Amino acid sequence: MTAVTTARYSTGRAELDALIAELGEPAYRARQLHEGLYEQRRPLESLTNLPKALRARIADALPLAFTVDTMQLADDDMTAKWLWRAGDGAQIETVLMRYSARATVCVSSQAGCAMGCTFCATGQAGFERQLSTGEIVEQVARSQHASPQRVSNVVFMGMGEPLANVDAVLDACTRLHDDLGISARHITVSTVGVVPGIERLTDFELPVTLAVSLHAPDDLLREQLVPLNRRYPLAAVLDAARAYADRKGRRVSFEYACISGVNDLPHHADALAGRLTGFRGGAHVNLIPLNDTAGYPGRPSEPVRIAAFAEHLRAAGVEATVRRNRGTTIDAACGQLRARTS
Ligand code: SAH
Ligand code: SF4
Repeated sequence: MTAVTTARYSTGRAELDALIAELGEPAYRARQLHEGLYEQRRPLESLTNLPKALRARIADALPLAFTVDTMQLADDDMTAKWLWRAGDGAQIETVLMRYSARATVCVSSQAGCAMGCTFCATGQAGFERQLSTGEIVEQVARSQHASPQRVSNVVFMGMGEPLANVDAVLDACTRLHDDLGISARHITVSTVGVVPGIERLTDFELPVTLAVSLHAPDDLLREQLVPLNRRYPLAAVLDAARAYADRKGRRVSFEYACISGVNDLPHHADALAGRLTGFRGGAHVNLIPLNDTAGYPGRPSEPVRIAAFAEHLRAAGVEATVRRNRGTTIDAACGQLRARTS
């Protein structure tokens, strides 16, 4: 029995080699373990090519980071939301969205969030703690265990601000790419505009997709929705995003939560298009109808108004899509994630 334990999905090939050696087992067992956990993406218990007693010793040495508090299904069982609990009591959520041929996992990068965006349930609840690399990878691995479709895409759009936990998030991107084989362009890091974090991502070796949450075309309005805008105003955020697009040769996406009468008028669309110039590969705006949260009185924009907003952007040469919401019936949609103890 090994005394030291390591979170199961914090291990890469080198750590598994070391563990198997420590357990006094032949080296090929490490290869089988890595293949099973990562290439085949199977749960440890199902790796029957490893003797049962060895699996039990590995399970002791490599415990899972989370237990399942609840799992809910929606959208004809094609959307699943987990509320996980870590050993220290921290709770986080993960959403799996299955499609006919593939699946996307929306992961949390922090328990809670310190950014305080007024319309977001996670922001309303405040910050609890950072997640580790292993905790981020575990969310993807365990979602895959529940999905017959291959998880091909990972989006950092769950709880937390990924670029406020940049070391663990970049490590997790490397592990998702190197160990689970997810292509870098299918990993999306969504940020509310942490400029130094965007700069770190620009220097990062993997060309992941960058998404920036804007929600407003000017500083005055954005400050009311996104307090971080006082620290990193729109111009600085957009400059950092342009530098990312230039360096990586990748199109940047922008998220825009549409709030009735607040940020969804034609003049907002014109102003937004005016700011999204000079992006290599063009800019792409995802319009998300506001989802309800307990702490914010705003209402989602009418569908016709969102369609008009999108048309306005397109007419000005900016690509726009309206995001279809998944998981609203189980509070699994954008901005609805927050830990609940009851
Ligand atoms: N912190 C990061 C990533 C997590 S939030 C960020 O803010 O980008 C993921 C997305 O959900 C962001 O685009 C965020 O603005 C959006 N969002 C938050 N609350 C929302 C709500 N109530 N309705 C619709 N989208 C929301
Ligand atoms: Fe945090 Fe993103 Fe929610 Fe803002 S929108 S509070 S940055 S999770």
